[in-house]
Amino acid sequence: MIVMKFGGTSVANCEAITRAIEIIRGRLQEKPVVVVSALSKVTDLLYKLSDAAASKDTAEVDNLLGQLRARHITLAQELMKESPELCMTACEKVNVICDKLTAFVNAVCALGELSDRSKAVIISNGEYLSSNIICHAMNARGIMTGYMDARDMIITSRDYLKGEPVSDEIASRTPGIVEKAFKGNDAVITQGFVSATADGEPTVLGRGGSDYSASLIGMAIDASRIEIWTDVDGVRTADPRRVKNTKCLDRISFEEAAEMAHFGAKVLHPLTIEPAVKKNIPLYVLNSMNPEGKGTAILQSSFIEDGVKSISCKENINVINIFSTKMINVSGFLKKVFEIFSENKVSVDLISTSEANISVTVDSSQDIGKVVRQLSEFADVIVDNDKSQISVIGKNIVNLKGMLKNTFAPLRDCKIYMISQGASYVNISFVIDKSALDTVMQEIHHYLFETKE
Ligand code: ASP
Ligand code: MG
Repeated sequence: MIVMKFGGTSVANCEAITRAIEIIRGRLQEKPVVVVSALSKVTDLLYKLSDAAASKDTAEVDNLLGQLRARHITLAQELMKESPELCMTACEKVNVICDKLTAFVNAVCALGELSDRSKAVIISNGEYLSSNIICHAMNARGIMTGYMDARDMIITSRDYLKGEPVSDEIASRTPGIVEKAFKGNDAVITQGFVSATADGEPTVLGRGGSDYSASLIGMAIDASRIEIWTDVDGVRTADPRRVKNTKCLDRISFEEAAEMAHFGAKVLHPLTIEPAVKKNIPLYVLNSMNPEGKGTAILQSSFIEDGVKSISCKENINVINIFSTKMINVSGFLKKVFEIFSENKVSVDLISTSEANISVTVDSSQDIGKVVRQLSEFADVIVDNDKSQISVIGKNIVNLKGMLKNTFAPLRDCKIYMISQGASYVNISFVIDKSALDTVMQEIHHYLFETKE
């Protein structure tokens, strides 16, 4: 069995879905388990819908619900012109989902109060709509396809908007459900992103979580391969929207891919690699607009050569500098500091320490007010705003001659606020002013990938 995940842009409209279905048709011998995202921009619309409901903006609620229904009905009709019966059942299903959502959202609107649980219910509808339509469209095109509800398989903690997967539950439930859905069918389909607690309460895996769903299912069924179908030719040396002359990478290691995802590359959801590593399942990032392309293979490290693979960045970060002479020769200081981060659920990216100073970076979307107040009770704290972080990623990069020179040469005139190098030899990261980011990224890319020494 293989898992094939199609992201929002790969199922955006009739043309894209038709292309996706033909890609699936080419792999029927391998028993594809298809995982789909919502149509592109639909999850954004559903977030807006929840906000509109919470603020009792009934006009906006009606407008968004209208758009949602119309887009999916039109899509179903376009996709199944030649199969009126399947088209009718698909449209009925769309209407049932939209009617239920309308009733739910109206109730939220009446209360003017939106819990995380209710929000999880609302934002998961995009995947239910897309998976239903695509399932019908596959059957209409002669691929017998079984439908599965991801909530029966992807079990998480009670964090409604960012459920933590419970691997044991997922592993024990999924294979049976998949096997049953395959009975008499060529393929099976389910929703990405959508999950539930063990007692059936609705949760989701967080933004971009469909990749994660695919790899959790892959792990549970021991898939021979996980394919992530998206709208780019694979993982690149840098984000092409930011840097010119980037190149596609043929193969990278699980570790490199994990670092890239954590450090700003937007190709994969950061947690996607983890389940695949557990079972050593190769992952492929492929372009549904260019299905003949090789894409990027993400494999075990022993198949991967040493060297710099990519540079990625996080544009908006803050650096928190913590100074205290009390930490010199005292044990337990770090624990005290990081307990404060953990209690306030603020996640830290880079850390660097010296005798009397700890510097950490945090994504600027996080509220650090409480952390700073609590730290200030026993240390001097200075926060540097408007910073960006650049990470150079590659297997064994510190062993490479000239690597540091090439990385830091473009930084001659630039202030570096912090440097951090993992013991893993996979990543060197540093922090610069946000205003310098684009120029520095382009120059480092040039030195590392465009010139040969
Ligand atoms: N539809 C969800 C989102 O847009 C999940 C995904 O596409 O991966 O965040
Ligand atoms: Mg995505």
